[in-house]
Amino acid sequence: MNSQPFVCNAAPSIHYNQRQHPIEMLVIHSMAHNAVEGIARLNELKLSSHYIIDFDGTIWQCVDEKNRAWHAGISSWQGLTDINSRSIGIEVCHRSLGQSAFNRRQIKSLILLCQNIINRWHISPDKIVAHSDIAPNRKADPGKAFPWQELAANNIGIWYGARFSEETDIKKMLSFIGYNTETEQNICCSAYAFCRRFLPRKIKTMPTRRLLDNPYPKENIALLEDSEFISALQNIYMQYQLYR
Ligand SMILES: [Zn+2]
Repeated sequence: MNSQPFVCNAAPSIHYNQRQHPIEMLVIHSMAHNAVEGIARLNELKLSSHYIIDFDGTIWQCVDEKNRAWHAGISSWQGLTDINSRSIGIEVCHRSLGQSAFNRRQIKSLILLCQNIINRWHISPDKIVAHSDIAPNRKADPGKAFPWQELAANNIGIWYGARFSEETDIKKMLSFIGYNTETEQNICCSAYAFCRRFLPRKIKTMPTRRLLDNPYPKENIALLEDSEFISALQNIYMQYQLYR
């Protein structure tokens, strides 16, 4: 299989190793730098991503898809760990870490890149995730303004459908979708991550370092009783069932 399929700039990273699992996931990030700064920053931190999309929509490739880039960190989805071994990582440059609208040219490039990757690796919609989905107690990217609905309209990931589930067990629904629900804290953080992606108007707090150090604020707990949240969860849970 051709693993260099897309026309883009190259900035090869030395920070990668061999995959331990086949590719089955796509992880979307945002970073508060332009591509050149971001590449330097990732190198400094001994991290990497397969692709970086600059403010103007230019795509950079840093790691060959066949290799394991270092972008996900400690994370899990649908009970799977070592997400780096299973995924392709894409960073989208965004100064406010996804708190305001993304540049149209970036989203256009991102959609083409994602469709290309999904078609070649047969990635299922339920395995297309935000970094905040797979590490909900550590990460907030790509952020609440990331256009998941638009991506889903282009066959990238899952969005709301017509039918709702009657399930009421929040832990069961979050866990089925893919979120970590091992502890009470995980459940709260995962509910918040769910809203970042599917109900962004519920997200009032900036993803500051302070929030990430204290991912268990009162508003996360209150969310678990929120009827809008529960109804959104019942809808998205139903859509994820179509893929399992
Ligand atoms: Zn990230």
